[in-house]
Amino acid sequence: MKNSAFSELGIQPEILKAINEMGFEAPTSIQSKCIPAILEGKDLVGQAQTGTGKTAAFGIPAIQQANKGSKIPSVLILCPTRELAIQVTGELIKLARHTNGVFTVPVYGGQPISRQLKALKKGAQIVVGTPGRVIDHLKRGTLRLNNLQKLILDEADEMLNMGFREDIEKVLEYTEGKAQTVMFSATVPKAIKRLMEKFMTDPEMVRVEGRAETAEHIEQYSMEVRDSMRTEAISRVLDMSEFRLTLIFCNTKRQCDTLVEELQARGYTSDALHGDMSQNVRDKVMEKFRKRKIDVLVATDVAARGIDVDEIDAVFNYDIPQDPEYYVHRIGRTARAGREGVAITFYAGRKRRRLKMIEKQIRTKLVPLSMPSVKDVRDSKKGIHLENIVKTLEAGGLREYIEELEPLLEGDYTAIEVAAALYKMRIES
Ligand code: AMP
Repeated sequence: MKNSAFSELGIQPEILKAINEMGFEAPTSIQSKCIPAILEGKDLVGQAQTGTGKTAAFGIPAIQQANKGSKIPSVLILCPTRELAIQVTGELIKLARHTNGVFTVPVYGGQPISRQLKALKKGAQIVVGTPGRVIDHLKRGTLRLNNLQKLILDEADEMLNMGFREDIEKVLEYTEGKAQTVMFSATVPKAIKRLMEKFMTDPEMVRVEGRAETAEHIEQYSMEVRDSMRTEAISRVLDMSEFRLTLIFCNTKRQCDTLVEELQARGYTSDALHGDMSQNVRDKVMEKFRKRKIDVLVATDVAARGIDVDEIDAVFNYDIPQDPEYYVHRIGRTARAGREGVAITFYAGRKRRRLKMIEKQIRTKLVPLSMPSVKDVRDSKKGIHLENIVKTLEAGGLREYIEELEPLLEGDYTAIEVAAALYKMRIES
């Protein structure tokens, strides 16, 4: 099923190849709704927040329809901040990796204009810029829009909030209404509607909804950890808990594979489930998971769609899901058949806004947990092992083992020392 869902959107093979290498398995909802419409040439307003995959939603058609090899830009993308401009450029460069003749150049304030002039002179088909700097280049004549085919406004509401209305209008006037105009905005206030009326032709409105309710019986937690500590945090939580089956979600196939390797190296029985694997292999992995030969299954959203295992005690979000709807689907894999379940979303501080967005949509606040310390893990392991020792003593059937250990007591060791050594081995393993 390599890229099948993406290829249905009419994306050309060179870009599909890049998408596959980036590990995207299926289009997000904003992508499936916007890509075909933008490719058809329609004006469009996409109402979507960061984290929904909106960059690729406009970036893929931009690359596909850019005038390859042309000296004059055919696509201009306006962004509110230099950070966003850099980020968008980075994503477009990755997506255009196998497409010849498409270069993306960022222009933003704060960077020496000479460097940008040089880059523009070489010939850029896609320009990503902040409004102020773009106007500078237009005035200097170093950026020409007479061949522009697409004008894309990213985070349009944010640009208006930052006072860029006049600049945006100026750019729109430069294009003389000839370019296809696409706008992405988290909100659509009056000021945006006015822009739409003035500069867009019968724009298609696309919204991504995500107002699903989450299930009861699921304790929902969040844990803020640095990216470099995420696998460690997951391991500690696994060590402290007695989850039988755990399902971990990642946003990309590649991330699934990496996490499985890291977990296996730490001694967990773990396997991946994603769309690069044949149906046959996926069936085998599921069978192992169902029979508990794998404790930790690491999956992408699409691959996990068919999972119908009732005994999943915990769902972890290694990545914050692309879409709040996905969050609801993901955690709904636990607490099935009347059972209780735990869901933990691991996230880095800079992603806090996306987490808040999910909380707003699901109208539930995730309970913050702090990352367990090594001591926490040890203490909890001790508690679990002491309980298990008592259970084992009560169950009996120890004769055979007593006979094997007895010779040790004839030497220098006492029974309590032997027990302590076994206990230590267990805790420290
Ligand atoms: P954005 O909303 O454009 O800021 O995208 C958020 C993140 O999602 C970026 O890191 C993208 O690379 C990633 N992304 C975009 N589309 C997909 C997809 N279809 N599957 C997985 N990740 C994606």
